[in-house]
Amino acid sequence: MKSFLERFEAFLHGKGLRLTNQRAEILRAIYRTHRHVTAEQLYEMIRDDARTKDLRISRATVYRTLGLLAEGGFVEALDLGRDQGVRYEHSLGHEHHDHMVCNDCGKIIEFHDPDLERVQDEVVARHGFVASSHQLNVYGSCAQCSRRERKKGASESDGAEA
Ligand SMILES: [Zn+2]
Ligand SMILES: [Zn+2]
Ligand SMILES: [Zn+2]
Repeated sequence: MKSFLERFEAFLHGKGLRLTNQRAEILRAIYRTHRHVTAEQLYEMIRDDARTKDLRISRATVYRTLGLLAEGGFVEALDLGRDQGVRYEHSLGHEHHDHMVCNDCGKIIEFHDPDLERVQDEVVARHGFVASSHQLNVYGSCAQCSRRERKKGASESDGAEA
C-alpha cells in the first residue's frame, strides 16, 4: 500500500500537486474496496470514516481526485452506460479483466479469457494499431435475471392458456 501512495505522490509532484491527507485517504479507500464504485458511492464510503479522523473530504475533492487517479493509471474508469454511470476500480495489482453488466439487477461480473485476449491482440495488430489499453463490456441479463425472466414468461403463457 505504501508504494501505491508513494507512486501517487510522485505522480502528483509531476503535476505540481501535493499528496494531501484527503487525496491519500481517497487512494486508500479505492484500494480497500473490490467493488466497482461510482464517485458518489466512494464519497459515501469515506465520508463518515474521514470525519472520525477529523478530515474534511468534500464531494468535489473525491471527484477531482478520482480524475487524477485515473489519469495516473491508479484507477480505471469504466463507463457502464445506462443508469450505471462511470464506475471506478483500482488497477495496480489487479490483473486485467473485462466485464459483463446485468441491465436488470446491476450486477457486474469480471471475466478474463486468454483466448479472447489473444484474438483481440491479433485483430489489433492486423490493423497496424498499437494498443495501450482496452475495455470490453458485455451488456445483458445475468444468469439469475434471465432465469427469472424465462420463468415469468412461462407462467404468463400458462395463464393465457387456462
Ligand atoms: Zn480484456
Ligand atoms: Zn441480474
Ligand atoms: Zn472489474
